[in-house]
Amino acid sequence: MQLRPSQIPAEVMQVVNGLTGGGFEAWVVGGCVRDLLLERSPSDWDVTTNATPEQIQALFENTFYTNEFGTVGVVNDGAVDETLKVVEVTPYRLEGKYTDARRPDSVIFSQKIEDDLKRRDFTINALAYSPDKGQLLDLYDGIKDISTGLLRAVGEPRARFEEDALRILRAVRIAAQLGFAIEGATLAAMAECAGQLEKISKERVRDEFVRIVNSSNPKEALVLSHKIGILKYVLPELEQGIGIDQNQAHKYDVFEHNLRALQHAADKGWPFDVRLAALLHDIGKPKARRWSDEKKDWTFHGHEVVGAKMTKKILESLKFSRETIDKISNLVRWHMFFSDPEKVTLSAVRRIIVNVGKDNIGQLIELRICDRIGTGRPKEQPFRLRKYQAMIDEALRDPISVGMLKIDGRVLIEKLGEKPGPRIGWTLHALLEEVLDDPTKNTAEYMETRAGELLKLSDTELETLGASGKESKEVAEEAEIKDIHKKHFVD
Ligand code: ATP
Ligand code: MG
Repeated sequence: MQLRPSQIPAEVMQVVNGLTGGGFEAWVVGGCVRDLLLERSPSDWDVTTNATPEQIQALFENTFYTNEFGTVGVVNDGAVDETLKVVEVTPYRLEGKYTDARRPDSVIFSQKIEDDLKRRDFTINALAYSPDKGQLLDLYDGIKDISTGLLRAVGEPRARFEEDALRILRAVRIAAQLGFAIEGATLAAMAECAGQLEKISKERVRDEFVRIVNSSNPKEALVLSHKIGILKYVLPELEQGIGIDQNQAHKYDVFEHNLRALQHAADKGWPFDVRLAALLHDIGKPKARRWSDEKKDWTFHGHEVVGAKMTKKILESLKFSRETIDKISNLVRWHMFFSDPEKVTLSAVRRIIVNVGKDNIGQLIELRICDRIGTGRPKEQPFRLRKYQAMIDEALRDPISVGMLKIDGRVLIEKLGEKPGPRIGWTLHALLEEVLDDPTKNTAEYMETRAGELLKLSDTELETLGASGKESKEVAEEAEIKDIHKKHFVD
């Protein structure tokens, strides 16, 4: 395997030429070299040099310091490709001792590229290419490992994972992304050091987890994570599904089912949110499982409500954004909707759109497909999906938000004499509830007459009718689940 200078993008070449023109060495290094050799597009570009951070900064117009490791970002505002807007330049580094399995105690700059390659995590990531020398430096047989598809630690694996436990998760992630196997001694050391992952910050764990989920082999990666004892530092709740057998409709336990659902989303190339929702959709099942003597089978009433709550907690602890947390827990909350053909009436579809949001309804269908494939049953019947899609299209033409009603707050105040205040919102939401059941009611006349009637109600009555009673709906829902459990099951 060889590389040609023409494979290096112009933005990176400019940085390399800037450094060599200033009398320094410059190597394109790490993951981007690996990706070039694999004919994959690098997600970022790193250059390493014998120049100090100050010397690097002096050579380029627009730079900034990115971290405490001496990395200088060279900015290229003109770049169209996002991955080329900043090229990271780092002096050759020798790492000091690690005492916390997270960060080196000190960073020492070096004058030798060999030192820098020695501290890198895996042989396939320890390759450096010098366009001006036309040399591909491969001190650890990384090229051989690339050609056989093997991930192998640089140096003594156990010592490397003890230095920085994040490397364990990086190994699982990179293997999943590239479809590589992990070399025996490396894998054994990962399992031995698993406990050290506890010290790694949730944010860094999350970033690797996201990449695993976005890879083409997330199922295999998560099974491996379980086997080597690291899944409990990433998503322990998933492991509760191991050995939790389901009812007759399912071939697999809850763990395997969740993973298969995720893998289907990956096979389809669906976006991260669908993948994550698929992975978590049945996370509440172990807690919600009850034996029914009547049915002589397991039941899981309310598992989507339990699951949505768990999802929220899980994603909060992994420091996901509020937006992601709300969206994924919402998808989990409503994932049973299209599973039950009885529920799928047009007015129910309008309500589900209100609940998951217009923009997410398509992903709810994708989640439904993942769920079904995850049971090991054949494909979703296409006619059923087409029917659902047609209903969604139709429902989307109907009024599904207060803003789409043929009445607004002004009418309530100016024509019907109501004072501004919360009663306005309650009334509009109560009207929307009626229109969701029957869109033909959405006429100016009917809305006004009905609003007049509603405004005669007391605050409490009106509030319960309006959707601001949502919270009370949730409380009622939980009571209902408890009730179901009491009625039908042992505990
Ligand atoms: P990605 O495709 O996510 O960019 P990558 O392997 O390039 O994967 P980066 O985080 O971009 O990962 O890091 C660039 C290079 O820095 C790696 O290829 C590796 O050589 C080195 N590196 C990154 N993190 C570590 C680490 N924790 N320990 C040792 N070397 C590391
Ligand atoms: Mg990279």
